[in-house]
Amino acid sequence: MSATDLATTPAPVTYARSAYARSADERVNKVTSIPFIIVHLLPLLVIFTGVALEAVVLGVVTYLVRMFFITAGYHRYFSHRSYRMGRIPQFLMAFGGTMATQKGPLWWAGHHRHHHRTSDTPEDIHSPLRGFWWSHVGWILCDKYAETPMDNIKDFAKYPELRFLNRFDWIGPWALAIACYFIAGWSGLLIGFFLSTVLLWHGTFVINSLAHVMGRRRYATEDTSRNSALLAVMSLGEGWHNNHHYYQASARQGFFWWELDVTYGILRLLSWMRIVSDLKTPSPQVRAANRIRNGAFDIGTFRSHLAHAGAAVHATGTGISTRLVASGQHAVEALAERRAQVGDGLVHRKEELEEFVRGSLDSAELLARASRLAQRPLASPLD
Ligand SMILES: [Zn+2]
Ligand SMILES: [Zn+2]
Repeated sequence: MSATDLATTPAPVTYARSAYARSADERVNKVTSIPFIIVHLLPLLVIFTGVALEAVVLGVVTYLVRMFFITAGYHRYFSHRSYRMGRIPQFLMAFGGTMATQKGPLWWAGHHRHHHRTSDTPEDIHSPLRGFWWSHVGWILCDKYAETPMDNIKDFAKYPELRFLNRFDWIGPWALAIACYFIAGWSGLLIGFFLSTVLLWHGTFVINSLAHVMGRRRYATEDTSRNSALLAVMSLGEGWHNNHHYYQASARQGFFWWELDVTYGILRLLSWMRIVSDLKTPSPQVRAANRIRNGAFDIGTFRSHLAHAGAAVHATGTGISTRLVASGQHAVEALAERRAQVGDGLVHRKEELEEFVRGSLDSAELLARASRLAQRPLASPLD
């Protein structure tokens, strides 16, 4: 390891609250969110229709099949190109994805690529460090991110059929909803389509929110991604999110036999049938490297703790005390006064603290880089 390796460490970032705070145009549009809320309530209409057994079976099937299209298609193929397939299967995969009612393939994958480029930095659109509900669903209901970020997805935007599906992303969901009605009547529509869609939404959204706060970290990635068996079951293998952030080019997200990854199992089946090919997977050396338990420094958690600490200092100094005083109660006022005194002290030292934080982050990034280099597989000293 040479001095130049360490000298190229990225520039430090200031973790004052303002860095992660949402801007004025990052607000949920309450009007355009109404259909989203109505879809959540529609399944309740089964109190009038009753629930047919075939509607429940239909709901389970439409959940699982559409989840596969999201993980194998929108995520592992369109976002990460972790395997290859011909133009017709590619189109069918994209059409299947639109049935999940998560907008078009170019919109989905374009935003997802941005998430990987900026994970858990202040630029990451849906980092939970910007608010849990925001990362789960808020950013999707915000006008600012409604457009497809075409610059991020030029490689697939060149296909006119994909641009068509991306533009007319309602065709898939409507076709499925009508089919559900004809298969199992009104309860088929309510359970087979609407309830299944709601569960599918949250089963997908948890990977942006919970998979960055719940579970265990194996690899010292620069973000807060985690591995969770529970989330992996719900999402057919996407819960191994720390594995995924560590090696995003892989078509396989459960790195070991005990890490259930149904999507990868189906992709292998499809590759035996020659529908897909070139499934990328990490080598044993890659899987063994960069592990926190072997001394790779967990820079992702460190940065997130710094961000939280910065936010807490800010809140103690300003937000909390003003809110408490405004509530006007006697005991609360006394508490607020004490808080304000502590807060004032902290705010006065804010610059000093920020300087310290910047220095710590610098050192942490050096340490993370050094520990990563130290863990490189001996078999490949040149890469
Ligand atoms: Zn990804
Ligand atoms: Zn992530």
